[in-house]
Amino acid sequence: MSTTKYDVAIIGGGPGGYVAAIRAAQLGKKPVVIEKDRPGGVCLNWGCIPTKSLLKNAELIFTLQHAEDFGISCDNLSFDISKAVDRSRKAAETLAGGVEFLLKKNNVKIVKGHGRLKSASVVEVTDAEGQASEIHAESVVVSTGSRTKAIPVIPVDGSRIIDSTDAMQLREIPTSMTIIGGGAIGVEFAYFFAAYGTKVTIVEMLPHLLPLEDEEISEQLEKSFAKLGISIMTGARVEKAEAGSGGTTVAISRDNKTETIYSDITLMAVGRDPNSEDIGLEELGVETDRGFIKVNDGYATNVPGVYAIGDVVGAPLLAHVASAEGVNLMERLAGHETNPIDYGNIPSCTYCQPQVASVGLTEKAAAEQGEIKVFKMPYRSSGKAVAVGHVEGMVKLIADAKYGEILGAHIIGYDATELIAELCTARTLETTAAEIRQTIHAHPTLSELVMEAAAGIDGEAIHI
Ligand code: NAD
Repeated sequence: MSTTKYDVAIIGGGPGGYVAAIRAAQLGKKPVVIEKDRPGGVCLNWGCIPTKSLLKNAELIFTLQHAEDFGISCDNLSFDISKAVDRSRKAAETLAGGVEFLLKKNNVKIVKGHGRLKSASVVEVTDAEGQASEIHAESVVVSTGSRTKAIPVIPVDGSRIIDSTDAMQLREIPTSMTIIGGGAIGVEFAYFFAAYGTKVTIVEMLPHLLPLEDEEISEQLEKSFAKLGISIMTGARVEKAEAGSGGTTVAISRDNKTETIYSDITLMAVGRDPNSEDIGLEELGVETDRGFIKVNDGYATNVPGVYAIGDVVGAPLLAHVASAEGVNLMERLAGHETNPIDYGNIPSCTYCQPQVASVGLTEKAAAEQGEIKVFKMPYRSSGKAVAVGHVEGMVKLIADAKYGEILGAHIIGYDATELIAELCTARTLETTAAEIRQTIHAHPTLSELVMEAAAGIDGEAIHI
């Protein structure tokens, strides 16, 4: 058994772990990342990145279906889903290589294998051949991420009842698909498969798709999806799913009635479980709550020297949150004075078309806290949106009635996921609607919609 001593040992090389390692190295520390697969985690290898590649294909297909609007004729159009999958795998490969390069450039050691805490300062790493080695470090960070939630009544078998990892590798187009769960994963895959002609039904237990978003935005998304031929069953709870040789049956309860949906394939997208088993937490006495590691504001567990970040500590399960937590923790460990992360100012983005992006409070939540002003600027009022042919959607701003501070921003429409960044910065700076309005935005851009929505808060929008 060989031993090496590091400042910080990071178990898991996803967006939490690898970013933490690079930040630690920048701060003059000696980090090591323990990772059994390629660095980049689920996000880069089996989540955010490959799905965004696939969603680009879906967007292109829908655009080509309206090619006539642009005076372009395409006869005998055909779509090869297998090539779309290949392209998405290549995007993931390229970026995983990029992360390996960045780690190397920052002198971060990667140890390949399964990491397990032996004590608060020793991690045992077992490689693919079963060989064990020990890593000694002053601090240990657990950033092991999450996996598809396991629900016994919905048994994922990888062929008929699948999860998102299976869905992004299907090389044949299913004729029909039931998607259980109308969160980000369900909605993004619904859009993707609908583009390839699959008859998609989404079953969501709560009253709306993307139930955490502002209600009006979710309703708008439901209308847009209905136009694409996607069937939506909300307020419908999946009780059981079964796979047979010819397809799947999904039993649903809605309004005290039961129904059954038959489809070729069922996609399970009802959330994620933490990867907190078999990493030595119980033996060390690290406290968890339903599997998620309990941490304080500084990401410390109850065991001195052991920290945790990212999906494994719980919601919001987002790559950008994991990365921010990694940076924040490393700065604390290096003795820097670091502001805590503002969990009320985290953007949420869903990459179907129209895209959905938001930050801050929904209208309902803001109204419960005090007097507000709300303004909605429709995409069809934007010159850029009309010129590029993306007139569906709105920018909705919610401001405090007295001072005009932006409390919430909700965008549905083309490039919403890019437009939201301005509003995140605005909220960090406690910017008012009047200040956004006074900031000249280039013409013609979709960002003018943000400026005009801000002007609208004080009744001063021009193009409506
Ligand atoms: P989710 O928690 O976002 O959504 C799951 C949905 O399933 C919920 O709306 C829930 O009400 C519903 N549901 C639960 N049980 C059900 C049942 N029995 N019948 C019907 N509906 C049921 O989970 P997800 O979509 O699987 O995503 C997992 C995580 O990954 C989330 O935290 C998500 O934010 C993240 N993610 C983010 C992105 C993105 O940012 N674009 C993309 C994919 C995933």
